[in-house]
Amino acid sequence: MRTVIGLEVHAQLLTKTKLFCSCSAEYFGAPPNTHTCPVCLGMPGALPVLNERAVEYALMAALALHCEIPQRSTFARKNYFYPDLPKGYQISQFDEPLAIRGFVELPTGKRVRIRRVHLEEDAGKLLHTETGVSLVDFNRAGVPLIEIVSEPELSSPKEARLYMEELRRILRYLGVCSGDMEEGSLRCDANISVSPDAQLGTKIEVKNMNSFKAVEAALDYEVRRQRQILERGGSVVQETRLWNEKTGETEPMRAKEESEDYRYFPDPDLVPLQIDDSWKQKIDLPELPAAKRARFAQEYQLPEYDIAVLTEERPIAEYFEAVVKLYQHPKDVSNWMMSELLRLLKEQRSLEIPMKPEHFAQVLQMVRSGQITRTVAKDVIEESFKTGKAPQEIVREKGLGQISDEGLLAEIVTKVLAENPKAVADFRAGKEAALGFLQGQVMKATSGKADPHKVRALLLEKLRH
Ligand SMILES: [Zn+2]
Repeated sequence: MRTVIGLEVHAQLLTKTKLFCSCSAEYFGAPPNTHTCPVCLGMPGALPVLNERAVEYALMAALALHCEIPQRSTFARKNYFYPDLPKGYQISQFDEPLAIRGFVELPTGKRVRIRRVHLEEDAGKLLHTETGVSLVDFNRAGVPLIEIVSEPELSSPKEARLYMEELRRILRYLGVCSGDMEEGSLRCDANISVSPDAQLGTKIEVKNMNSFKAVEAALDYEVRRQRQILERGGSVVQETRLWNEKTGETEPMRAKEESEDYRYFPDPDLVPLQIDDSWKQKIDLPELPAAKRARFAQEYQLPEYDIAVLTEERPIAEYFEAVVKLYQHPKDVSNWMMSELLRLLKEQRSLEIPMKPEHFAQVLQMVRSGQITRTVAKDVIEESFKTGKAPQEIVREKGLGQISDEGLLAEIVTKVLAENPKAVADFRAGKEAALGFLQGQVMKATSGKADPHKVRALLLEKLRH
């Protein structure tokens, strides 16, 4: 059986104001209906004015997706009735979209073609209460979105997820979308068909997937469902289905509508959008994820896993490069960042790194030169991360320098051996593991500051006598 998937992704642009009015677009968490005006409420006589920043962000995304930008694009009214749509139509783009024919390169190297990218406004939000009353909040009405439509050439639910993740990475690198699926700033509808031969099967649209995991799970479910129908000799009915996170199943929602149903026509209130070469040339794209991954592999010779982790977010990748400039051991920097730094960032729930790259480099340098142990280094990183203090200062203040004075270490080792006669006997009876235990005791006695190589040598020397 052959599976074919195409995705329609809606990304909310991070503009300050809405697409056609000056209401704030940062509506998340605001009291209902506080970000509204006659334009986004669809009052008679109110006229839309296009937000230039939204066009710029959409262009950045389109160029990052390697799209062609036609000189002219137009806005159209998509007509339908729903209580969250005050005008009775949504302003979108139809036959002349902003951008066409691009592609996304997945981390696997596969290129997925993009059919089109267009600008449109978001609808409001309905809230269904337990008493059976529905409330409407228009704060989201008119917030700018781009819709990114792929060609149907994703061949598995797993690949659909990889595509979504790469899109999110690109949009976040550009800074044009927060990419938060749970908050709804990145949404995805999927078209999926399964067929026993090279012909395309019946297209099913799946909606309501609010995480990458949900995208993969919903499509996995659909592949199984459609396959079972076909194997029993039945035929799949074309429709739109909703993913139900709780049951782990998709449920029928409505017969699939066609674009004719929306009676699209050009919006008479908005002139065609003209994008000339000088506008395109003004747009400065950062290095994008695929290029960064390729460069990291070449320049730093890192394993694929490290590269994926370090390039997932732009600030992390930039921090890595800033540290490596000062301390030229890329794999070492990668290890310490992936273990310690990412843990601290996860704890503080933000990607802003308060620790200076030079401080991070200094800690690693101190470990390499034997000034502090690895155990101490972890504490120093945490302290410097939380207080902004220089590592040298922390080590000095807290007396964390590595103990490599043999006389002092020998004394501690003797004491530890005297206090642990059972472990000593075990080791002498051939239990190698007892050595690790004793070494641990010495490290504990020195608060992790003892030079571990010297401790081991001293222990062996004394145990063998
Ligand atoms: Zn408004």
